[in-house]
This record gives sequence, C-alpha cells and structure tokens, in this order.
Amino acid sequence: MKIHALTTGAVRVKHSFLYPRQGPRRQLGLFLPGAFSDPLPIHCWAIEHDGVLRLVDTGETAAARNVPFARMEVAPEQELPAAIAAADLELDDVSEVVLTHAHGDHMDGLVHIRARVLIHETELEFLSSPMARVMRRVLRQPLPPGFDPEPFTLDDGQFGAFARSRSLTDDGRIVAVDTPGHTSGHISVICVDDEGRHVMLAGDTTDSLEQLYALRADAVAPDPKAHIATMRTILAHCAAQPTIYLPSHDPGSAARFANATTSTQTPVPVA
Ligand SMILES: [Zn+2]
Repeated sequence: MKIHALTTGAVRVKHSFLYPRQGPRRQLGLFLPGAFSDPLPIHCWAIEHDGVLRLVDTGETAAARNVPFARMEVAPEQELPAAIAAADLELDDVSEVVLTHAHGDHMDGLVHIRARVLIHETELEFLSSPMARVMRRVLRQPLPPGFDPEPFTLDDGQFGAFARSRSLTDDGRIVAVDTPGHTSGHISVICVDDEGRHVMLAGDTTDSLEQLYALRADAVAPDPKAHIATMRTILAHCAAQPTIYLPSHDPGSAARFANATTSTQTPVPVA
C-alpha cells in the first residue's frame, strides 16, 4: 500500500471558526467581523493498493467563492490534476473516490473526475434537506456539476473504537468509519499500512491534533456534543492502535504523515 498526501491550495478560516464561543454566539461569530488564520492546507489523499488507485476527497478549485468564515487561496494550477501529477500519479487511473463529507473544499475537485464516487448515505440524505439547499444558496456554494455519488452504509460493525464501519476493500485494509460531528454524516477513512499502523484520513473531524486533544467542537458542527463524542472515540482508537491522525487542514498533517508520527507518541490528552 502506498499513500500520498495531495495539496490543492490553502484556506484561511476565521478565528471564531477555530475557537468558537459557547452558547448562542458559537455560530453567530462566523458571520461577524473577525481575524483570519494563516493559510491552512487543503489536503486530499491518494491510496495505491492492490493495483487500484483511490482518492479520499478531491480538494478545492479556483472557482470556489469565499464564505463569511473562510477565504480560499486556490489557483487553477493547484487543483487536483496538478496535485495528483505532483505525486507521479495519473488522474485517469483513479477508479474510486470516497468523500469524507460534502463540503466544497473536499468535493469541488470532482469536476476533474470520471470515476465512481462514494458518499455516506447520511451525508447524502442531508444534502437534499431544505436546510442544506438554503445554505448552498446563501453561501453560493453549489454542488459540483454532475454530482451523482453512490451512497454507502456503515453496516460492517465495529472497527477498533468505532461502532460502525464499512470496508472499502475485500481485504479490510481500507475502512470507512463513523465520525459524525463536523457534519452529521461525516466519515473518516482508515488505511492499515504495510507496517500495520492505522493511517487515519480524518477529513474535518477536527482542524488540528490540538483541537482533538482539547475536545473542542468547531463552530459549524450541528451537534457539539456528538462532535466531542467522536473526538473521544478517536482518542480511544489512537490509544489502542498506533494511529497516524491526519485531518485535511492541519498544518502538521504532512509532517506527521511523512514521519509516521503516531498519536501514541504525543502527550496524553486532557480528558
Ligand atoms: Zn468541512
């Protein structure tokens, strides 16, 4: 198995997104004036395994509009075709894409893809809800043209600390696990690498390892309690398995991946 970290530009997010207030100001702060972070990477991932090339997420495109709490910094030459070429891979060889969740900076790159696209059923259901339709219009973030992913369910039972999972390969080495919080249907993909480590492609479960340890829900999570419950599950998994935790926007993810730094080598989190 070979995993590649791909980068499709960067995003700056408002501090009120990374460090939300408690209570009613939690989401209001997203729409009030405020400072932005330094640029954070927009990662997606390519996995070569058993002669199959899969992607987890597809990154952002230059066409994406800013929203009140996020400013995109993506040039056309940073989109998925260039990102995949930088890893010495061919876009035409991609046979499957798995989405962690349906936010633009994870799926807008689908415009470059002809392969089958998988999405968790719960995430797809939310996309057709009135709330999701209104938010797409308000934030001017349409679904990628031709968006027609295949839904999957998490009915393969427990995987490590995660109660629900779905193996994406016959050998069970690439597994989608239930990580609700940032969105209600969010999943992560765990790859069991050749050394037996769990490489956790974590999407937006948190923005950083620090946020995971702090057990701090983000400002967009529909249910902060569910978000924090997922963080506790991830921490339990990390404690039981050598796990390399790789959120999409963590400036530390690329180095943690390159060095195969496992979560068990870092300080014990605050419970
Ligand atoms: Zn997201």
